[in-house]
Amino acid sequence: MSSGSPLTALDAPALAGIRRLNALDTVRARIALAVDLGLLAPGERLPPAGEIARALDVGEITVRRALVSLCDEGVLERRRGRAGGTLVSPRPATGRVPEIEAYRSAADDVHRLIDQRLLLECGVAHLAASNATPAQLEELRDLVARMDRAASWAEFHTCDERFHLLAAAATGLPAAEEQYGAVVRELYRYYLPYPMEYLRESNREHAELVAALTGHDPLKAVEVTRRHVEVLHRTMFVGLMGHPAARD
Ligand SMILES: [Zn+2]
Repeated sequence: MSSGSPLTALDAPALAGIRRLNALDTVRARIALAVDLGLLAPGERLPPAGEIARALDVGEITVRRALVSLCDEGVLERRRGRAGGTLVSPRPATGRVPEIEAYRSAADDVHRLIDQRLLLECGVAHLAASNATPAQLEELRDLVARMDRAASWAEFHTCDERFHLLAAAATGLPAAEEQYGAVVRELYRYYLPYPMEYLRESNREHAELVAALTGHDPLKAVEVTRRHVEVLHRTMFVGLMGHPAARD
């Protein structure tokens, strides 16, 4: 990568914060931070470990170990029986997971990644409105339907990632796909569980985007995309920190 590449910023030392965490610690931090911010509600059941593993891009064994340690620390609890599984504790312990600090201190990097994503994704939307093939549009539509049916934030996130990478592929420009993919994957390292109501709402924008692409309407496609990405400054954990109102 040349020093003039826009991706150089992603390798900046500032990112060392979460890079020094191992996979187990990133899972612990992301779930504990989501509980702290009220994104996961007390008593809420977590999705199966395999789904969490796919969504957070780590191994299933790592997820199982993270869940066990968070149970030991009182953030989560395990319940037996038909209503059983791993749940957020009714009164989750706070301040037990120091790895959270690496995420909190990465706020500037996250805001920068959101802006990089915004810049690239507006271009992606514009080009995909002229270049998406019928088969790609069909697949995008199918992913929107799957996100509507998704039973958990983990399942939703896996489809969401595929949706946006497919939109980048629909530009027909391999270079766009490569650069956009690099930014999005970096940003997703900071992805936290979300409440399902929020995700279902955001899926309406996916549907609007597919309609704009199908209608070959680049301006509408860019407008929807801008809304979809700009809001991340407020809805990702970096926008929620220090705002206890996020709990409602
Ligand atoms: Zn999305």
